[in-house]
Amino acid sequence: MTTPLALLLALVLPLAVDARSLRSPAEVPAAECVALPRPTMRIRLILERDVPPSLRAPLETVIADVWRDEGIQIQWLPGAAAGQADPSTNIWLRITAKTIDTRRQPAPTLGHVRFMDGVPHSHVVVSWQAVQDWVRMQRDRMFGNHFVGAPHAGLRIAGFDAFAVRALGYAAAHEVGHFVLASRGHDRDGLMRPDIGPMVAGDSTPADLRLAPASRETLRSRLLRGAECPQLRSAAR
Ligand SMILES: [Zn+2]
Repeated sequence: MTTPLALLLALVLPLAVDARSLRSPAEVPAAECVALPRPTMRIRLILERDVPPSLRAPLETVIADVWRDEGIQIQWLPGAAAGQADPSTNIWLRITAKTIDTRRQPAPTLGHVRFMDGVPHSHVVVSWQAVQDWVRMQRDRMFGNHFVGAPHAGLRIAGFDAFAVRALGYAAAHEVGHFVLASRGHDRDGLMRPDIGPMVAGDSTPADLRLAPASRETLRSRLLRGAECPQLRSAAR
């Protein structure tokens, strides 16, 4: 009798262990959690040398305003050296004074997020130089119509016109969008359209600054998935 009982136990015990692990809440693997959005995103904003430090405050305001409307609070962390390991940082947002390599892009690239096997990397780069070039190009091209209305209205922030600062902020908010949505794709309208022009234009509407409905739905489901991350669970306890 002992042999069949031992056999039975040997079969039942592993099953019991499996059942116990099934009963615990479905946790998302830590590796996947790194790239999932949270209700509060901690962004470490790094202004490279040659990027005016006075851009920091207005830039933070524009990005936080955009994402607050989508239900995400931004907590800003002070800048630090690139590559410094820090698990409390969700996104490293680097503003560079250099242009971004555009060899594989048909249009000037204002910013980018790298993807590895479909997973966005937490280092987001936006080029202040490329944004200023873009603003100059828009003014040259559209001189005389509504597009130049805003920059000549006398609004200036710490030596920069509000138009260029907003362009930088929307470009950065858009790149953050690629990260939180885990998508390189673009929408026809709103924050994730490929061209920030309508966002910065004098006649932009609130919808121009918001996510399109499909992307908002993607964000909602990714936030739900992010809420299952073990890091958030332990923080909530
Ligand atoms: Zn984009």
